[in-house]
Formats: sequence, structure tokens, C-alpha cells
Amino acid sequence: MPKRPAAPTGVRFTVSVQDANAHLFAVTLVIEQPAKNQRVSLPVWIPGSYLVREFSQHLQDLQAWQDGRPVEMKQLDKHQWQADAAAGHPLELQYAVYAFDASVRTAFLDSTRGFFNATSLCLRVTGQEDQPQSLEIVASPATQGWNVVTGLPAHSVDAAGFGHYRAADYDELADCPVEMGQFWNGQFTAGGVEHRFVISGAGAWLDGERLIDDTRRICEAQIAFWHGDGAPPFSNYVFMLHASADGYGGLEHRNSTALICQRADLPRLRPSTSDKPAALKATDGYTTLLGLISHEYFHTWNVKRLRPAEFKRYDYAAENYTELLWFFEGFTSYYDDLMLRRAGLIDDATYLQLVAKTINQVQQTPGRHVQSVAQASFDAWVKYYRMHENTPNATVSYYTTHPARRGPHHTGRGDARSLDTLQGRPHARSRSAARAQAPGQTQL
Ligand SMILES: [Zn+2]
Repeated sequence: MPKRPAAPTGVRFTVSVQDANAHLFAVTLVIEQPAKNQRVSLPVWIPGSYLVREFSQHLQDLQAWQDGRPVEMKQLDKHQWQADAAAGHPLELQYAVYAFDASVRTAFLDSTRGFFNATSLCLRVTGQEDQPQSLEIVASPATQGWNVVTGLPAHSVDAAGFGHYRAADYDELADCPVEMGQFWNGQFTAGGVEHRFVISGAGAWLDGERLIDDTRRICEAQIAFWHGDGAPPFSNYVFMLHASADGYGGLEHRNSTALICQRADLPRLRPSTSDKPAALKATDGYTTLLGLISHEYFHTWNVKRLRPAEFKRYDYAAENYTELLWFFEGFTSYYDDLMLRRAGLIDDATYLQLVAKTINQVQQTPGRHVQSVAQASFDAWVKYYRMHENTPNATVSYYTTHPARRGPHHTGRGDARSLDTLQGRPHARSRSAARAQAPGQTQL
């Protein structure tokens, strides 16, 4: 990792709990060197989830000051504002964000935990998107006993994780969600890299040791897939899992992932430690959870580093169209369960049951005769993410319908002409180069 500058950055965010019971985060943004009539904007979508969600709907009470005087903030459109500010004098903005979405895509806050993506909380400073951005997370009586975890590089934080973090630019800030609360905490090493795994919402019955060990095997299988004996292209990784009554989902990031699972799908401690856990079945919820972990971790390469040219530079203000989600989601879906098999976590019969389930889903979707996977990718913004009663008749899922499903399903390491060659070889060929590349420098 490059050495981080010691001096405060010119774009500084401070996030604190304004009112946990009202689900409000308080955000302060200081721009040390604003432009005349400085503009700021909030993203309308979060990379990895292809729907315009209008995060600005939850931003409220925006105020600004410069040289000790209030500054007028003129709203330009649904997500942009302009400050009536002079150039070169520090400009301070304050606002609140309502956070009560328990998904991995936006932000959540109550008296038990907080979670946020910067795309929901942090305004983009026009013209300074490529500058370092600092984020201070402030402890308060409302966060008593809480810890903080994020993939962001820490600059100066206390033992609980409160304090200052540094992002190289807005993209990194937006790609590192933050989890706060009292969570179960485990860690392991894979490929020489420290991995942290935190779980909110679990009970004392959690078999964390088993989850850590199984996740480590998944990570090692995937690092070997992409790099052989080499190291992965990140220096630390964080799994943030929230266990709830009925949730499910995940969102990939460059060195972390936010996950939601059903509490019932977590592994439980057995009465006697001498009992070996039963072999996993395709129908087990825990198999689903491991598949989700495998899926999001695979994205660390496939879409975060190897990505469509259209995603080289995200446009946070509008839909970012690509015809290639069938590759980035479809192949990731193909490999998620396959990696469970390769890691030795499921047997051949269980793996083939999972494949059969997917094939049945595709066969039972009439829309596969109507829409191509390229069209499904391009239209994700208005079709896949906006399902309705006609969806199965008119669309296909780019997760399950792709060329990989038509080929032979091999459960061992592939031969020279297998799908592994296509998927893994670009990194394997330039292993050292891949390690040094920042996200966005590798496009397909
Ligand atoms: Zn995915």
C-alpha cells in the first residue's frame, strides 16, 4: 500500500450519531480549498447494485458556513447543490442523513448498530473527487460499547476503531462501507493477508470457529485460482455480516463486503466438540451462506478489478450501462458454488444438486426466448432491478443464464482450455502487474 499523507486532507468528513432513535447520522464536510460557487452532489446509485436509488431523498437540513458566516446553498437539481462561496477559504457544510434501510446498499442506524456506504452519507466535492478524502467517525454516548470496522485505511483510530480514516479519492471512500456496533469478531490469514470477519445480530450459540475456518478455505481456493502461489492484490479484507430474521444479500467492494443472512443459516455450536459437523447438503441454509460469501469474495477480482470498460470511471450521477453483467455476475455465480466444491466444503452430489437447481430456474423462465443476456445486462436498471408480474415472461437473469452453463461442469482444476483459463488467466499472466494495479486499470 502507498504511504498515506500525514497532513489532514483538503476534503474532510466527520460522521457522528445525531439521534439513533430517529435514525439520523450527522455529517460535517470541510472543504479546505473550495472553488468559487463550489458545487457538491450525492450519488444516485451505488456501484454493484444497478438501480438509481436517489440517495439524496434522505439528506436533510443542509447548511454551510465560510469565514464564520452562513453561506447560501442553492439546490440545482435532485442531487446537486451550489454554495454561494468565495474561492480558497475553508467551507464547512453540515447536514443530516436519515438511515433506516437494513439492506447493504444504503445506510442504517438505530440504538444497536450503524452501517453506511459513503454514497449515502458523503457529498462529492466537484473538482476534488480525485483528491484524498478523510473520514472521522466520532464516538459519543450513543455509541457506548460499540466498535467500528471498515476496509478503509486507518490513520489514527482508538482500540474500538473510532477516529480518522483516509481514502485516496472519492472512489475508495465510496467503496469502503462502515459497520458500527457490538459485533462478533474473528480473523484469519489467507494468502498472507489478514482477513477480519464481523457479525452483528448473532447469538452466543454461533459456531464462529467453523465459519472462520470454512471462509478461510474459500478465500484460499480463490486466491490460488487467481494468483497461484502469489499474493492477492489487497493488504487487508473485511467481511461485514448482519444476521437478521429473514434478510439475504451482499454487495462487493475492493477489500471488503457487506452481507446479510438469515440468523437461522449461521452455524451453531454443537453440544460436544468431538462430534464432527454433518456433511453439508444443497438445501442447508449454511450452504447458501457460504455460497454468498464465495460470490462476493470472487467479485473482489471479477468486477472490482477486472471490470467493464464502461465502469473504468463510475458516473455517480446516472445509470452506467454495460452489456457485460452476464460475464461479471454470471461467471461469478458460476464460480461461487464451484469454489465451495474446490475448497472441499461440499461433495460432488451436493454441488450437482446446486447446478440442477439453477438449470431448472433457467428452464422455467420463458423470457430466455425473448431477451439476450447482453440485453438483460444493459436493461438491468429498469428490468432486473424492477421486477413485476411479467418479468419471467420478458427477461432472463444474467446471474443464471450465460455460456458457462452450457459447457461441461468440471469440479476439479480445469485443463488448459477450460473456463478457468478464460476467467483466471488474465491475472495469472500478469500476476505481479495485477498486484500493483489500482482498481479501474484493468478492463475487459
Ligand atoms: Zn454478484
